[in-house]
Amino acid sequence: MSVRAFIGLGANLGDAQATVRAAMAALGELPQTRLVATSSLYRSAPVGYLDQPDFINAVAAIDTELAPHALLDGLLGIEQVHGRQRSFRNAPRTLDMDLLLYGERQLHDERLTVPHPRMLERGFVLLPLAEIAAGLQLPDGRALATLTAGCDQTGLQRIE
Ligand code: ADP
Ligand code: MG
Repeated sequence: MSVRAFIGLGANLGDAQATVRAAMAALGELPQTRLVATSSLYRSAPVGYLDQPDFINAVAAIDTELAPHALLDGLLGIEQVHGRQRSFRNAPRTLDMDLLLYGERQLHDERLTVPHPRMLERGFVLLPLAEIAAGLQLPDGRALATLTAGCDQTGLQRIE
């Protein structure tokens, strides 16, 4: 059975816009997965470690028959293809892909927490998500619109 999932993308090294576009297209190439919608690209100021370039962010919607951990493996595979090197938390990266939502499921183990805990407070996730999923309700019953209205949008800009 196919599940609607939302993927958050971020990149801030190299040609970040091209990387994010290529990664969204790659989602549609995952097995048993269809790319349903993609948001605009957004430019956001770095969080945490500030001495690095702005990020390009976007959110994609997919319909997938992959189980959550298999989907995570697929995301990490796409990150690898785009040469991600892990250094430290909030460090610059060529590509970061996060599983934001997987249907109505709530998951928590050593590899995977869904809904993605930090990202759902952040404008650079919530605004692009709202663009492609207006009216969405989170598994805990909160409305996306409520979160979006209260989120920090400092340094966030939609790219035309
Ligand atoms: P962050 O995205 O917080 O900057 P990383 O991308 O380096 O950090 O962290 C990746 C690790 O986070 C993955 O190896 C994965 O096991 C774990 N993780 C837990 N929940 C999620 C999720 N919802 N989406 C993506 N990765 C997750
Ligand atoms: Mg990540």
